[in-house]
Amino acid sequence: MDKTVTSERRNFDVIVIGAGSGGLNIAAFMNRIGLSVLLIDKEDRAIGGDCLNFGCIPSKALIHAAREVAAARRATAWGIRIDGEVDWKLVRSHIVNAQETIREHENAGWFRLKGMTVVLGEAAFSGPRSVMVKGTEYFGTRIVIATGSRPRQLTGQGIEQVAQVLNNENIFSLERLPRRVLILGGGPIGIEMAQALQNLGVSVTVSDRGEHILGKEDSEIADILQKQLEAEGVTFLLASALQEFTGPNEATFTLSGGRVETVSFDAIFVAIGRELNIEGLALDRAGIETDGKGRLVVNEYLQTSSKHVYACGDVAGNFQFTHAAEMHAAVIIRNMFSPFKRRFSGDHISSVTYTSPEVATFGLAPHELTRRDIAHEVLCTDFGDDDRAITDGYRYGKQKLYVGSKGELLGGTMVAPHAGELMQELVLARSASLPLSALFNKTYAYPTAARINKRTAATYMTRQLTLWRVRLLRLLFKVV
Ligand SMILES: Cc1cc2nc3c(=O)[nH]c(=O)nc-3n(C[C@H](O)[C@H](O)[C@H](O)COP(=O)(O)OP(=O)(O)OC[C@H]3O[C@@H](n4cnc5c(N)ncnc54)[C@H](O)[C@@H]3O)c2cc1C
Repeated sequence: MDKTVTSERRNFDVIVIGAGSGGLNIAAFMNRIGLSVLLIDKEDRAIGGDCLNFGCIPSKALIHAAREVAAARRATAWGIRIDGEVDWKLVRSHIVNAQETIREHENAGWFRLKGMTVVLGEAAFSGPRSVMVKGTEYFGTRIVIATGSRPRQLTGQGIEQVAQVLNNENIFSLERLPRRVLILGGGPIGIEMAQALQNLGVSVTVSDRGEHILGKEDSEIADILQKQLEAEGVTFLLASALQEFTGPNEATFTLSGGRVETVSFDAIFVAIGRELNIEGLALDRAGIETDGKGRLVVNEYLQTSSKHVYACGDVAGNFQFTHAAEMHAAVIIRNMFSPFKRRFSGDHISSVTYTSPEVATFGLAPHELTRRDIAHEVLCTDFGDDDRAITDGYRYGKQKLYVGSKGELLGGTMVAPHAGELMQELVLARSASLPLSALFNKTYAYPTAARINKRTAATYMTRQLTLWRVRLLRLLFKVV
């Protein structure tokens, strides 16, 4: 142990390592109810975590700017003339403004004012119930690891000669945008960035090993998005494997069938997955186990192998979203107070890829329903003759809902403008165990885009009209 350790013993009810989406939720609640909370992050500007600094906020601010540019270009269809290029500095200051506005209530001073002890520096365990930061040791009755994740590094042959390697940690603060970007990884981060950059005037190529983009999504839904992106000029290299970087601005890929394709770029953007931030934590000093693959061993109650130490957010290794970190926090808070432990379940999780159109998904996917032997049917609605889709020009939209034998919503997915918003009432229906008939019986203002949910419900209700029910209705009509 470090000989410069401060001898004064500092005890806390809860120590939270990492002041991002997960850690802040837990720290704020524990502080509100009067427990002593120590919140640790590397530095003041790191508070807010990935979401504020390198993830959700800068990416959604960038997407907002890019959407406005795309909308302005589309407006030429109505006779308006648009010329000129995007001023990246203005886009960047919009991103920074969004971050700084949120930072006003996400900083060390703010949380200290609220009553928390905030310590800045890298934390590492010094024992089962103690954590060391810059030579001072702190003791906690409960400890939460909420240290998040970082972009997985690319290790392809010749990577050292690449002119500019970008990822979500450096792209938002670029001085100027590269002219051509090769994006490695066709998941949500890669695809959101692909469309935003293309709309801002960058020429984008996306490569992915999979047969379709957004590998975790339904392939029909992902294909519809891909076509929209292709129409905007994004190039896709799917089912491709990076062979090597042959120079600072060039890479070769092997495609299915053995064909080799060369791609030129000014910068690459790496979005090939995430690695968990655990290696600097000296977990062995606390007897906390890892699985040997860079992941914490975490049980369904989100406890590590040391039961009073919990894992929250990305570092817990399941769903990597801000709202998943919030769900973790809710489970952990409950489990710290109750002898009746609650399991974390991702069965109600939802996610949105913030492209135009958006891809929104919730609940259980068909392969999972089949794996669990849950009887279900798939209701599929094309938006082709939806009145709002006709007026607003998104007849390509598609929705799939998975419905159980009692008419209960089990999950679903859709691609449409603002699909993430359209999905919210479906998420509520699923979590409140409402049957599809609840959507059918609701009166939707005409012509709201959300009426598509009622349409799918109507398909289901119509299917329930069996022959004998129809006969019964006819009979009732005659006798009443
Ligand atoms: C480009 C991008 C876009 C995204 N968009 C969305 C989105 O639209 N919606 C969504 O739900 N999710 C999105 N995400 C995911 C979301 O950002 C993460 O899931 C979320 O931030 C995870 O929260 P967390 O608390 O687990 O970790 P973080 O928010 O990353 O917080 C971890 C904190 O721990 C600190 N830390 C790490 N190690 C130590 C240590 N040893 N000592 C002290 N402090 C330490 C870090 O500095 C950091 O502040 C996006 C991610 C990226 C990369």
